Amino acid sequence: MLEILRRIVQEVNGARSLDAALSIIVRRIRKAMQTDVCSVYLRDDERDCFILMDTIGLNASAIGQVTLKPGEGLVGLVGQREEPLNIEEAPSHSHFRYFAETGEERYSSFLGVPIIHQRRVLGVLVVQQREKRQFGEGEEAFLITMAAQLAGVLVHALSTGALARLSDPSTQALLNGIAAAPGMTIGEAFVVVPSANLEAVPERVPEDVEAEVVRLREAIDCVRHDIRQAAERLASRISAQEQALFDVYQQMLGDAALGNEVEKRIREGQWAPYALSRVVQRHVNYLERVDDNYLRERAADIRDLGRRVLAHLQKDSSARPPVYPDRTILVGDEISAAQLGEIPREKLAGLVALRGSSTSHVAILARAMGIPAVMGMSDLPISRLAGTPMIVDGYRGRLILRPQPDLLVRYESMIEEEEALTSMLESEQSLPSETSDGFRIRLMINTGLAVEMSGSPAARIDGVGLYRTEVPFMMHQRFPSEKEQTRIYREQLQGFAPLPVVMRTLDIGGDKSLPYFPIEEDNPFLGWRGIRVTLDHPEVLMVQLRAMLRAAEGLDNLRILLPMVTSVEEVDTVCRLLERAIQELRNDGVQVERPLLGVMLEVPAVIYQLEALAERVDFFSVGSNDLIQYLLAVDRNNARVSGLYDACQPAVLRALDHIARESRRLNISASVCGELAGDPIGALLLMGMGYRVLSMNAPNLSRVRAAIRRVSLEGAQNLVSDVLALHSLTETRELVYQRMKEWELAHLLPPRD
Ligand code: PEP
Ligand code: MG
Repeated sequence: MLEILRRIVQEVNGARSLDAALSIIVRRIRKAMQTDVCSVYLRDDERDCFILMDTIGLNASAIGQVTLKPGEGLVGLVGQREEPLNIEEAPSHSHFRYFAETGEERYSSFLGVPIIHQRRVLGVLVVQQREKRQFGEGEEAFLITMAAQLAGVLVHALSTGALARLSDPSTQALLNGIAAAPGMTIGEAFVVVPSANLEAVPERVPEDVEAEVVRLREAIDCVRHDIRQAAERLASRISAQEQALFDVYQQMLGDAALGNEVEKRIREGQWAPYALSRVVQRHVNYLERVDDNYLRERAADIRDLGRRVLAHLQKDSSARPPVYPDRTILVGDEISAAQLGEIPREKLAGLVALRGSSTSHVAILARAMGIPAVMGMSDLPISRLAGTPMIVDGYRGRLILRPQPDLLVRYESMIEEEEALTSMLESEQSLPSETSDGFRIRLMINTGLAVEMSGSPAARIDGVGLYRTEVPFMMHQRFPSEKEQTRIYREQLQGFAPLPVVMRTLDIGGDKSLPYFPIEEDNPFLGWRGIRVTLDHPEVLMVQLRAMLRAAEGLDNLRILLPMVTSVEEVDTVCRLLERAIQELRNDGVQVERPLLGVMLEVPAVIYQLEALAERVDFFSVGSNDLIQYLLAVDRNNARVSGLYDACQPAVLRALDHIARESRRLNISASVCGELAGDPIGALLLMGMGYRVLSMNAPNLSRVRAAIRRVSLEGAQNLVSDVLALHSLTETRELVYQRMKEWELAHLLPPRD
């Protein structure tokens, strides 16, 4: 059963339109369950009914015609109760309704299950049988499992109809995802492809068909050559039977099996990588379906060979530098910081990713660069989007493909309005960040990308509150040397001197990996991250500490911050290493002062060790991004649970308030450098709790400064005591929005429909 389930889901995933997906669903399920009928009804929210969308067994002419209100008929009942209905003699059920156009009177047994995605009923899946048949428990469970799996695949298509329209190049399609970085932008898709991934090859038309065919032939020859060499290398170590497998590979690469078919597609107008991926997929699909273990194994071989040929094709194409459109919207499954860095900044207009959410690191980078982004677009068929004109609405988490003139005009005018607001706020950037009753809040910026240095030159800031050193590490092909690091850090320290720069030691792990130091774990966010990695590799940490100290010579504006601290032992060990690094440099004649040392408060365990930590370090910096994810047990990258990730959750606000109070009592400075500090509401709440230093991405400065300048400290304190008295997220959000309106600050909040 599991195998059948997996195969059906795989096929549906590969469907090119909603109609094709539904057709696969009904046909495959009917066959697997050996029933007379299988139908799928989808919910139409506007008309508040379930529509028969596809069937195999009922009259095809009923498709699109039969509609049922929730609670109406057996299908409506399943949809309304959100529960399966399994009856042997359907016509005698009180809810049975007869539709002449379906020919339904001939069917006596009925099993219907709701298709539910994230608590929302999307439709109903039904099987029926002519003769009386009590569907067994196992069959019911199968259909429920099927519906649950299909829900995820269907969700975007259903809410927007986009999947159906994607293949039609003339129609507009609207898709919803997660708002990951604010702003709205209009541009053209540039699809980034992870290398040798057959599932993610974009569809393109070859510029020169003959050259494309030659490219394919060369790539196949290269793989043939590789395989021949591998066979020769292994000749003495493997049996003749195993050697024969290499011959099978050579045959598969032969014209009859692969070459000719791919070439034919190229001549029909597909570029080689896409043609190859389609042909391989077709063979794999076929082989995986046959009931023969030997042939099924060959599916894996074909896929492997396909990947090898693709790797050669991609090697070749990457030799030519990619041509980015003037307003590039980067579209990818998962976009890395390095990929972001490859595109000339002036051409990068927006970002769309299938995975990730608003607190993924790539989203943070996008915000730091002021680039609108939408993420979590889980089933956007990216391979067909290259060159597609699109609007990215990073406020509403919306992507509009091929916008029609009226929508385009609307967005153009919204973008203009936003630019006007930004330039108005920009003019306040040189004013102090002071509350209306005269209290100073120090605003700092988060850096890591070189572009941020020039981000907002006129802005009045108090230094760098978080320099993420992992970003320059990501831009290298290996750990940067002490000399290289010294140069990079010196640039940063000098760029902001005499203002302080808080440099965080390498914080890799979680969703930040270095291409040359991969960390594979089941639970990366609960694993080898931040200080845990660098304490296990003191050689890496020592190089970094020395480079930071050396870079600060004569400037005296360096502060060092430790990420992901869980225990005081970790801090004690770093203190010893820091002393050693200082001593080593002094022995070398470098004049170094001991910099202030701080810990990030982001693992909930430290909330209960503030006193012991305060005895050891000079300052605290709250990493609200991680603190929220760990307090709420919500993976910051998981689109499924991103709705739960909210700083206004009462537990989060209490934890932040507790840290502020305790830090005051312990007389240690506590700042906030997570995304919350860069949100006008978050900044006012933090200010009301007693935080006096907020560090954020440069593009957020103007809105946060405007909010601070228009509210009194007393007002913010009252807001905090009011929200701390509430127990639910909804009430808290409502109160905060209400207060923002009273303060006439609604224009600083993200636009909502
Ligand atoms: C945080 O966790 O809030 C933080 C600032 O660090 P990062 O986002 O880099 O994990
Ligand atoms: Mg963190």
